[in-house]
Amino acid sequence: MTAKIDIRHIPHATPTPADVRAKLIADPGFGKIFTDHMVTVRWSADKGWHDGQLRAREAFTLDPAAAVLHYAQEIFEGMKAYRTPDGEVLLFRPLENARRFNRSAERMAMPALPEEIFLQAVEALVRADVDWIPGGDGASLYLRPFMFADESFLGVKPAGSYVFCVIACPVGAYFKGGAKPVSVWASQDYTRAAAGGTGAAKCGGNYAASLIAQAEAIRNGCDQVVFLDAAEKKWVEELGGMNVFFVFDDGTLQTPPLTGTILPGITRDSIIKLARADGMIVNETPYSFAQWQADAASGRLREVFACGTAAVVSAIGTVRHKEGSFTIGGGEDGEITRTLRARLTAIQRAQAPDTMGWRHKVVV
Ligand SMILES: *Cc1c(COP(=O)(O)O)cnc(C)c1O
Repeated sequence: MTAKIDIRHIPHATPTPADVRAKLIADPGFGKIFTDHMVTVRWSADKGWHDGQLRAREAFTLDPAAAVLHYAQEIFEGMKAYRTPDGEVLLFRPLENARRFNRSAERMAMPALPEEIFLQAVEALVRADVDWIPGGDGASLYLRPFMFADESFLGVKPAGSYVFCVIACPVGAYFKGGAKPVSVWASQDYTRAAAGGTGAAKCGGNYAASLIAQAEAIRNGCDQVVFLDAAEKKWVEELGGMNVFFVFDDGTLQTPPLTGTILPGITRDSIIKLARADGMIVNETPYSFAQWQADAASGRLREVFACGTAAVVSAIGTVRHKEGSFTIGGGEDGEITRTLRARLTAIQRAQAPDTMGWRHKVVV
């Protein structure tokens, strides 16, 4: 049995002319330029998933009482489509996004979306907007599947209707300055997620809660915030939207374990698998902020990097906190960071054999 649905194509009346599009995707930045189309699929308690549409990207009409505006039932995913040197279009482990989307949905009391429909919608949008995939180094088409509750009702309960949507942005590098290490602010006043909370779900609310800490990071001259655990304010968890890895002088790697308060990144998982396949030891064990400071001072800690779909792999060079600051690896992009970034991006862009079976070709 297949769970696929019909996605009705409603032609775009005024698609962006090719010359305008070419200018837009030449230097797209991140998250500012959107493609012509979107896919929407609706869910209601009586009909289930229905009314799939591929159509012009346009504003939603929302009732002021729509549940998402009041109780924040909203989840999302982030993934990329890559254009290869041969002109093929590839997704990277898209079923992992579909599965995580459903784990997020379950936590937020939202309906599960069959993995086939998730993939069908993403592929339909990539196909419709294939000419928006930038070809440049480090460029890709960022895909944003998301779901929100649109029932108008002010009672506190899981909503009875939802919209699933996919939009896309041509993107370049996430951090301006490319491979230059980023600085992070260790937040001691704000936490991101507590045990039993929504830290492992990719929901908009987690980001809303992180923005004040991110603003504090910027005020303190840092690019990003790194969160400590909510219970003891002792253990390093992750950045606002990226997982974190530590590299030691004996060649081992360490990353905080997935205990429910950390987002299980697909990049994190891929880095762990690639490093282990290369014979490296990766420990998924807690790492305290005090130990981080001590290991940076002693030189035992050689490299630190953050990773996620948007920013890929970014070295962390400087850490600031209320009592001071310290640097790692002389503020340079380290060798293992560089190697793992190159290994991952080569697989994503079909510049290396797909030994893990991670590439997913979109027939365009
Ligand atoms: C999306 C996200 C990540 C990275 O996940 P990837 O699957 O690697 O893109 C890490 N942390 C948070 C909080 C996230 O929302």
